[in-house]
Formats: sequence, C-alpha cells, structure tokens
Amino acid sequence: MSAVVKPIDSGSVACDVCLKEIPHSEAGIVEAEDYVMYFCGLDCYRQWREAQDNTAG
Ligand SMILES: [Zn+2]
Repeated sequence: MSAVVKPIDSGSVACDVCLKEIPHSEAGIVEAEDYVMYFCGLDCYRQWREAQDNTAG
C-alpha cells in the first residue's frame, strides 16, 4: 500500500499537517492567494507557520 485516499464527507476536512479529519466548523483555516490550508488546532498551525518561516528567508 503506497497511497491512501480518504473520501471527505461534506462538512469535514483533513488537517494539512497531521491529516486528521476534523469537522469543517472546527478547522482553523488559512486562505492564501491560490490555496487554502486547514488545521485541527493551534499546534498544527504553529508547525506549519514555522515551516513557512524556514522557507521564507
Ligand atoms: Zn493537525
């Protein structure tokens, strides 16, 4: 098994950091110019932000 594709029920999304499924209403959302990121919580949001900072400079 090399890939896992999960069907996403309407109303839920997958965290872009840990890939956990979360209700859309509870997800943290960051909208950029051409993409949208979802986060299950602040921990994952901070992980993503740190990665962005590392690539920004
Ligand atoms: Zn997460």
